[in-house]
Amino acid sequence: MDLGLKGKRALVCAASKGLGRGCAEALAEAGVALTINARGVDALEATAQHLRDTYGVPVTAVAGDITDEAARAEVLAAAGEVDILVTNAGGPPPGLWSDWDREHFIAALDANMLTPIALMKALLPGMMDRGWGRVVNITSSSVKSPIPQLGLSNAARTGLTGYVAGTSRQVASKGVTINNLCPGIHATDRADALDTAVTQSTGVTLDEARATRAATIPARRYGTSAEFGATCAFLCSQHAGYIVGQNIVLDGGAIVATI
Ligand code: NAP
Repeated sequence: MDLGLKGKRALVCAASKGLGRGCAEALAEAGVALTINARGVDALEATAQHLRDTYGVPVTAVAGDITDEAARAEVLAAAGEVDILVTNAGGPPPGLWSDWDREHFIAALDANMLTPIALMKALLPGMMDRGWGRVVNITSSSVKSPIPQLGLSNAARTGLTGYVAGTSRQVASKGVTINNLCPGIHATDRADALDTAVTQSTGVTLDEARATRAATIPARRYGTSAEFGATCAFLCSQHAGYIVGQNIVLDGGAIVATI
């Protein structure tokens, strides 16, 4: 299927690895010129070079913490006018409800709610003026079914979900869609970090921790960044203009719900 995205420009945040990289790769394959971001320079440059070499699209790499206002301004300046925004940042650490104080919640809100909102505020006006735009926020299936040990994530991402529910309806008439992708368990460094925490608390091996988690998923496996990225590219495509304010769960069937 031709996604109709050739020549469009995208900013994909937190995209040197994992799900963000999967989105960048699928957009590059569709002919989109990219600005990508992550904090670590080496992995970011390697990803940018891979995308240029593989797909022949222009890729600008801007290193910096997307949750930091000054770094975000640099990323936005380098990206310029973009048609597609994919927001992403690292997830908050796991813990217990009794561990977290105000500063922990503020950090989680900054990373997983206020940063995507700031990016949308900066880029939506241009998209609306030009009459076309796509925003995809990488959130988590925890907005639909909370993960008890990820209370910071549950709280911050639900705030973003509420913001998108209202804002997406305010911009849709200008040809701009905003949707959220809600990953369940995917095979990335983030999943490794969570599984490693299980090995430390229970004494099981990493493979055992993975197998135990995979067994809880109807698909009996973790998702891949490539299939996640393909879904993102479809949401950004010319075919998805009527999908507005949705939360698309990619979890191998892990959340048991009729709708
Ligand atoms: P990952 O494999 O750890 O990759 C994270 C990427 O984001 C890396 O490129 C990292 O590069 C970059 N990054 C992290 N924090 C950043 C920041 N503050 N500014 C700029 N770049 C940043 O993680 P992932 O699995 O792709 O997860 C992506 C998001 O989805 C996270 O919020 C995660 O919590 C959420 N999620 C993941 C899963 C899953 O199973 N994988 C499930 C539900 C939700 P640098 O470290 O160099 O910055």
